[in-house]
Amino acid sequence: MKLFLSYPLNRKGTLVFDLDGTLYDNPAYIRFQEESQIKKLAEFLHLSYDDTYSCVRQIRQLRENSHLPPTSLANIFKERGVPFDLIIKWRIHEFHPSDWLSHDALLFDSLASLKASYVLGIITNNPHAVAEESVKALGVSNLFNIIIALDDTHRSKPDPLPFKALLKKTKAEPRDCFVVGDRYSIDIEPALAEGMNGILVDSVKDVYSLPQILLP
Ligand SMILES: [Mg+2]
Repeated sequence: MKLFLSYPLNRKGTLVFDLDGTLYDNPAYIRFQEESQIKKLAEFLHLSYDDTYSCVRQIRQLRENSHLPPTSLANIFKERGVPFDLIIKWRIHEFHPSDWLSHDALLFDSLASLKASYVLGIITNNPHAVAEESVKALGVSNLFNIIIALDDTHRSKPDPLPFKALLKKTKAEPRDCFVVGDRYSIDIEPALAEGMNGILVDSVKDVYSLPQILLP
């Protein structure tokens, strides 16, 4: 875990989590999400699955070669001409979190204790329906005060808009917000750019230990 604090910890405020890869570890489900979306993109572009995947890999490599930070799959799809409404529809149709995720008592305990001092939120590149089914499957759905999902802003992290939307809705001061995520360039960098704090986690196990750091 790595902390990026813009201000000293005052041990209260707004704690905003990324969902996938942060509130659960399930490499097979993460892989399924990517592969199922590439399958939809292949149909859309009338290309084979393999050609589509190598095209996505090429875009990622080109960004890296040009020293650009990694971006989300949704942003790559948008660049390829897929309308955002369709990206949202594909995700709702293909992702069934309850097939992949189950109740996590350690996560519940951590979030329940953090909730005593923090407003809890989620910013996710998945649509609301998927986010809500995910937190329900994890057994933590009643703990979150706010979810900013792909269908709220029609922009995908690292775009600044979802972060701005969260600040607007919660009326929180950026300095009192902590964004917790598993990808620096997608979750943390744009949060820091808004003046928020960032906590980069390796896995949900780091989320289990957040109360030790964030609570008095
Ligand atoms: Mg993630």
